[in-house]
Amino acid sequence: MSLSPSELERYERQMLISGWGVEGQKKLKSAKVAVVGIGGLGCSAAIYLAAAGIGKIILVDKGKFKLNNLNRQILCWQRDVGKFKAEVAKEKLEALNPEIEVEAVVAEITKDNAHDVIGDVDVVLDGQDNWKTRFIINEYCVRHSIPFIHAGVSALHGQMTTIVPGKGPCFRCIFPKDPPEVEKILVLGATPALLASLQVMETVKLVTGIGKPLVGRMLFANGEEMVFETVEVKRNVECPVCSNL
Ligand SMILES: [Zn+2]
Repeated sequence: MSLSPSELERYERQMLISGWGVEGQKKLKSAKVAVVGIGGLGCSAAIYLAAAGIGKIILVDKGKFKLNNLNRQILCWQRDVGKFKAEVAKEKLEALNPEIEVEAVVAEITKDNAHDVIGDVDVVLDGQDNWKTRFIINEYCVRHSIPFIHAGVSALHGQMTTIVPGKGPCFRCIFPKDPPEVEKILVLGATPALLASLQVMETVKLVTGIGKPLVGRMLFANGEEMVFETVEVKRNVECPVCSNL
């Protein structure tokens, strides 16, 4: 695989980053990343994945954009209200970067369809707003040794961690019991934008091998007090999902 002159120009400013270069960019071009949930997190993550040159992006969401999504789901413009999120997002990402491939999947992840919907990818990004689906994705990712980059937001707060099966705790190790679901998550658009940017940074690091991923650590971003901290999270040797690894 080689990079075209236009790709070399498009990615010039990031390829000059130490340890990146043409080889790092080629790794991104070969990478397949799934964004599961095209909400506040998923929209912002998808834009930066596309801009960075991830070669194949799979966008999964069963829903359609609503007017009250517009404060944060930035791939939805006024004219897109009522249209399928995954399809609108695909169109926007392809307009931003025609060098990449984008697949829209209008579906909800279940235990039964996870393999068909997510498939064989290098990284999965969490764009979910519910715990139940996160646990399904976690189980799928552990079973297939796929890194899963979790993020969650509420108002001006967010959290994220990078799960690399076998190398650190999985999502079930960190949350042994299902946390209560929140009916209506309150959120300022800048909060998922922040966490999604960090998810993309982690993705790029995992694919290129640059830096140290957030494995075994949970980052808490408190935008109200503007405090960021990371807390160590450990594997559970009796975890029903990953203890066999
Ligand atoms: Zn586990």
